[in-house]
Amino acid sequence: MTTASITHFINGQMASGDSGQTQNVYNPATGKVSGQVALASHGDVDQAVSAAKAAFPAWADTPPLRRARVMFRFLELLNAHKDELARAITLEHGKVFTDAQGEVARGIDIVEFACGIPQLLKGDYTEQVSTGIDNWTMRQPLGVVAGITPFNFPVMVPMWMFPIAIATGNTFILKPSPIDPSASLLIADLLKQAGLPDGVFNVIQGDKASVEALIEHPDVKALSFVGSTPIANLIYERGAHHGKRVQALGGAKNHMVVMPDANQDKAVDALIGAAYGSAGERCMAISVAVLVGDVADTLVPRLAERAKSLTIKNGMELDAEMGPIVTPQAHQRITGYIEKGVEEGAKLVVDGRNFDASGSGDDCAEGFWMGGTLFDHVTPEMTIYKEEIFGPVLVCVRVPDIATAIQLIDDHEFGNGVSCFTESGSVAREFGRRIQVGMVGINVPIPVPMAWHGFGGWKRSLFGDTHAYGEEGVRFYTKQKSIMQRWSDSIDAGAEFVMPTSK
Ligand code: NAD
Repeated sequence: MTTASITHFINGQMASGDSGQTQNVYNPATGKVSGQVALASHGDVDQAVSAAKAAFPAWADTPPLRRARVMFRFLELLNAHKDELARAITLEHGKVFTDAQGEVARGIDIVEFACGIPQLLKGDYTEQVSTGIDNWTMRQPLGVVAGITPFNFPVMVPMWMFPIAIATGNTFILKPSPIDPSASLLIADLLKQAGLPDGVFNVIQGDKASVEALIEHPDVKALSFVGSTPIANLIYERGAHHGKRVQALGGAKNHMVVMPDANQDKAVDALIGAAYGSAGERCMAISVAVLVGDVADTLVPRLAERAKSLTIKNGMELDAEMGPIVTPQAHQRITGYIEKGVEEGAKLVVDGRNFDASGSGDDCAEGFWMGGTLFDHVTPEMTIYKEEIFGPVLVCVRVPDIATAIQLIDDHEFGNGVSCFTESGSVAREFGRRIQVGMVGINVPIPVPMAWHGFGGWKRSLFGDTHAYGEEGVRFYTKQKSIMQRWSDSIDAGAEFVMPTSK
């Protein structure tokens, strides 16, 4: 079988790079190698940055309306090719095709938002701040900016970044995860077809070394990162050390509180979908169910029944609910956490290890399969409660009341997403106001904010002070300039030695 060669994309062309190093890319459903992705050298990164730097002045000078028109053409092309993108995601990530379609759709939302860039870049203006003097502000692009993205959303997460970065007049370098790199090249091709000038969007494939080169490069003005917390923390500190603007979104441990008055059927559906969808490999997956009062006694058996009967198959099969785990390393890590949970005394209600993949599809025997796992009687000291497992493992914590639930969540190191299922307006209101988490769902298990609201967690789920996309994204990729202007007939003769004040 021939395998694909997955290259960089520099200055409008596919480029193999000069490192000679590659990494295997797998189809997680079959466990077979499907391609080799190039790993960039410092020289390859330099080339991409030079191309982006050269393209910047003309692109920054292009009127925002014309930049928006490129985005509109890109949007049309994305809609025409969305299933091709979804297929590329499923074949390298493993998530089910319908879920991949959803990922692409949420990315497209941001492109639609970026089409409105002329309105978003409109400055403000005050006439007569002093007699004969007007003052206004404008927002201008930064220059070359880079996005470093995780494996779990190879289309959506890059689209949190580059549509806004490009529409605001920057030039962009995407460094995707080497685990599922193909979608980045499809995106590059569609942007080129949309008429984006060469050098405005570039892709550098690679891992740690290429990220290091981007962090250290003096011509890269800003870094957007999404991935695990240790790397987010590192990028934030190292990026700041090198004088860059950084937004670094990290890991998560998202809780869902179920109150005794919640609609229990809806809560079970929500937990099953949010815990096991995409095999739990979502930064907004629910990984902790916080069951209030005696809810656990009825809910845990129902969750167990559903977790055991998940349809786990090759994601290209349209009835699949959950696909394989992304890599053997991730499989091993998740298995290790399950062992640790048992060791530390949690009750293993459903064990996803040793999953039988014989019904998962043709040619799937060597895939990275695992079933859904459910733990009950988990306590805050346990490793499976404290750490991000990033797999299909749901842990249940029993608490007596909502105040204990809120305290539990607030004490956790992460604060990405959270959800509360209740029929009480006052519980919902207090929960939403008090909880120390960046994105809150009330009877919504995965509250990923819409394109114009911006995405970001609190605590160690985000380093930096601007969230991704939305108006915060526009602010991140632009710097404000204030201009104060007067003309000579309003200027009094003589030097002024005092601090100018409004006259
Ligand atoms: P990761 O941190 O391993 O990798 C993310 C990116 O960093 C990749 O491009 C990778 O090549 C690069 N990288 C890896 N090691 C590096 C190093 N030592 N130095 C520099 N760069 C390095 O994350 P992942 O496994 O690809 O993705 C899963 C993680 O991402 C989870 O922790 C998940 O919660 C998080 N995530 C967070 C959000 C969010 O919005 N907060 C969204 C999606 C994923």
